[in-house]
Amino acid sequence: MKLITDFRNSELSLRLIRKIEDESVSECNYSIMEVCGTHTVSIFKYGIRSVLPENVELISGPGCPVCVTSQGEIDAIFRIVNNNDISLLTFGDLMKVTGSNGENLIDLRSEGKDIRVLLSPLDAVKTAAREPDRQFVFVGIGFETTAPAIASALLEAKKMGISNFSILPYCKTMPEVLGCLLDDPKLDIKGFLCPGHVSVVTGKKIFQPLAQRGRAAVITGFEPLDILSSLLHIIRQVNSGDYCVYNNYSRVVDNAGNEKAVQIMNTVFKPSPAFWRGLGELDGSGLGLKEEFSAFNSLEKFNVKVPRINEKKGCRCGDVLKGYIRPNLCPLYGKQCTPENPVGPCMVSSEGACAAYYKFN
Ligand code: SF4
Repeated sequence: MKLITDFRNSELSLRLIRKIEDESVSECNYSIMEVCGTHTVSIFKYGIRSVLPENVELISGPGCPVCVTSQGEIDAIFRIVNNNDISLLTFGDLMKVTGSNGENLIDLRSEGKDIRVLLSPLDAVKTAAREPDRQFVFVGIGFETTAPAIASALLEAKKMGISNFSILPYCKTMPEVLGCLLDDPKLDIKGFLCPGHVSVVTGKKIFQPLAQRGRAAVITGFEPLDILSSLLHIIRQVNSGDYCVYNNYSRVVDNAGNEKAVQIMNTVFKPSPAFWRGLGELDGSGLGLKEEFSAFNSLEKFNVKVPRINEKKGCRCGDVLKGYIRPNLCPLYGKQCTPENPVGPCMVSSEGACAAYYKFN
């Protein structure tokens, strides 16, 4: 067997497109959700939607961590920064996300607040260790992909006895939100392109409920051949009615996942309710801090509650994240809302569906 090394090979891509055309039965509507924001970007970047038959429809899902962070969670960040003399440490994608009052973190920084962009949670701990007289708050957003790195940073902070560091525990997990999408009578998703990055940590098993509920589930990489071949797998599963979780990214994802990373994550975090933009509160879909790490919880440390707040008027990010509408159907798209002046997080984040749609259409 010849090993594939060029995952953008045009000849192989064309062959896969022909197979997809041949095997997608005309009377079936193959609605397929790509759950991961990185998949959304790849799909737009390589023009994959445009080469598929009409009845093979790709829908973007709730897989961009910045986008699914609820308005209440965002507002809680602003409350902590505005009411306390702290330094905020965050990933760069959050800088342009606006609070309910229309301000973003760039505005707050220009007003003199100390807000720093970091690349890793461990950098956040090191920063706090260097300046022991200041309080540091790290915005801990992400899915199962990022949670082990945040957990590992907290273990390090605990080991070092650092008391001027805490996190906003905003990490979310995939299985519950996927279940919620399956329960939604407005959606008729036949299959999922399962997120490759999350799967590196979790392995196949978290997607098993999808197959058990009669949906195709294919763990997918991010190159054109990965995506096209996964779509073909999904179409074949739908046609045969024989559903399973197929690992089509085995060059990176081990079926069992990364047990060490899961163990680190489980040492620090426990399942908790979480607020999702557009989807509301989902039981067990968040990662709260275990009792022994509660001193690192910024919400408790600064006595802030996550308010229950609706999205801004006119913003349809929630509907985009649920796959109800395409970005261009939001009335603000391309008018009041552009990457330069984003209204909602789906236009802010580099992995947001609206930003990808705008950039590549
Ligand atoms: Fe939200 Fe802007 Fe997208 Fe509309 S176009 S859904 S306001 S990000």
